[in-house]
Amino acid sequence: MIVVAATSAAYPKLIELSIDMLSRADPKTLTLLPASIILITFIRGIASYGQSVMNQSVTLRVIAELQKAMFARLMNSDIAMMQSLSSGSLISRFTNDVNLMRDALSRTLTTMCREFLTAVALLGMMFYMDWMLTLIVIVIFPFAGRPIIRIGRRLRRASANVQTGMGSLTATLSQSFGGIRLIKSYGLEDAESKRTDWLFDEVYRLIMKTVKGRARTQPILEILGGIAIALVLTYGGYRIITGAGTLGEFVGFISAVIMILQPVRSLGNLNASLQEGLAALNRTFDLLDTKPKITEKPKAQELQNVSGHLQLSDITFSYDVNKPSLKNLSIDIPAGKKIALVGPSGAGKSTVFNLILRFYDPEKGEIKIDGKDIRDLKLASLRDNIAFVGQDITLFNASVEANIGFGDPKAGSNEIKSAAMDATAHEFIQLLPNGYKTLLGEKGAKLSGGERQRIAIARAFLKNAPILLFDEATSSLDSQSEKQVHQALIKLTKNRTTIVIAHRLTTVTNADMIYVIDEGKIIEKGTHADLISREGLYSRLTNIQFNLE
Ligand code: ATP
Repeated sequence: MIVVAATSAAYPKLIELSIDMLSRADPKTLTLLPASIILITFIRGIASYGQSVMNQSVTLRVIAELQKAMFARLMNSDIAMMQSLSSGSLISRFTNDVNLMRDALSRTLTTMCREFLTAVALLGMMFYMDWMLTLIVIVIFPFAGRPIIRIGRRLRRASANVQTGMGSLTATLSQSFGGIRLIKSYGLEDAESKRTDWLFDEVYRLIMKTVKGRARTQPILEILGGIAIALVLTYGGYRIITGAGTLGEFVGFISAVIMILQPVRSLGNLNASLQEGLAALNRTFDLLDTKPKITEKPKAQELQNVSGHLQLSDITFSYDVNKPSLKNLSIDIPAGKKIALVGPSGAGKSTVFNLILRFYDPEKGEIKIDGKDIRDLKLASLRDNIAFVGQDITLFNASVEANIGFGDPKAGSNEIKSAAMDATAHEFIQLLPNGYKTLLGEKGAKLSGGERQRIAIARAFLKNAPILLFDEATSSLDSQSEKQVHQALIKLTKNRTTIVIAHRLTTVTNADMIYVIDEGKIIEKGTHADLISREGLYSRLTNIQFNLE
């Protein structure tokens, strides 16, 4: 950047020399001057290349580090926070916000260093050539400062709005594409298009605001440039006419003024990009600075050689203030036993899982594994000892092998195969076009419900954790698939402390204990036979289901 600036400053001097030499008809004009011009442009060219590459490399490195930090922060943040932000708006932070930061950073580096240095070097040259004229020129520039700063402030706000708009747009798009089956089946294509059209227009409106703001700086700088040149023409012209200066000096100086206008304009415009970048940076640092609520204690212990005695004592918890989802709930599961949670929708069953996995901490009460409070354990070691199979099976667009392999990243092909066999999944996997190497499509779209379930069960087999949390799928499977899933489950739950959230009561009859939850409280507990004979909620729910089936 220093070399680029220095060579730029040499141009006006060269112009001055050449005009003066030409007016003297000096023969060196034909040799020395062209050679020096080629040399200077050559040096400037190489220096420009170097500074561009180095500048971009610093910028991109910084951006990549920010993206990594942001991603790691999000991966380690609380589930509650992740759920409050839509995935689309999160993605937008990695794309739109990052673009603005990249632009601001690379412009700042170039402008602050190269353009600033060039302006200083040219200014030095101008002083050297004619200090009086230089003073006349530079007094007018501070007038541009105030409006440019004011415009910048407004731009920062406008730009923050654009980023929020972009976030909503990305979120809407990802929802629309993700929900395409629903949209088509309900004939919502036009309604969706209207909704997104509105957003596209809104983003257009917001961006136009920043464009206008940015465009406002341009004329201010343009007019000042014009005034500067006019002043030089008048004063410089007067000196030539009166014989006080040479034509070369005059043209050289005018060139310097014209040349300095470009870096000065960049410096003036810099504020605009800088404010937009700062708005994006604010959002990024807000995210990086959020502290997760679920944290490990400094002396958190490893959970080792777990036998699986799981106790929930007097748990009260609410997601939102004033609306407890669990109230004074206590459950004690001896190691290796299987219990079932049943109850109406919204009763709080999944919340029990969320607390055992420490996605949230209870407000009151404690959860212990083998007598150790889970808040005293290392988070990874707690979750290592729990296999969770949810209602919605998460499958990634990767091979079957990789999808099962999530259960234990260290497992080899043979272990994966044996887990699939235990989960009665091996047979159908073999029939897939590329067997275990078959890609599953986004969210496992290429598999049936029962097959997805068995992949998830295979994952749990592979994880081989002493505690199993199983949230039964609500969508019913055909009887063949259901039998296969059931078989796999019996094997999986053997000798593991298991909690099953049962939506179809036929599957819980063999549980060691059934807890009936309603409105966050346990209202009945006992074996299947006990509860049927008691004729309470459980027996009513069973009757309803049998009648439905
Ligand atoms: P289902 O059988 O329908 O899955 P459930 O018994 O598992 O229901 P929970 O998911 O535990 O019920 O929900 C218990 C209560 O907590 C419900 O009133 C629900 O609206 C509320 N709830 C669940 N998750 C959240 C959340 N992330 N934020 C706020 N409230 C929540």
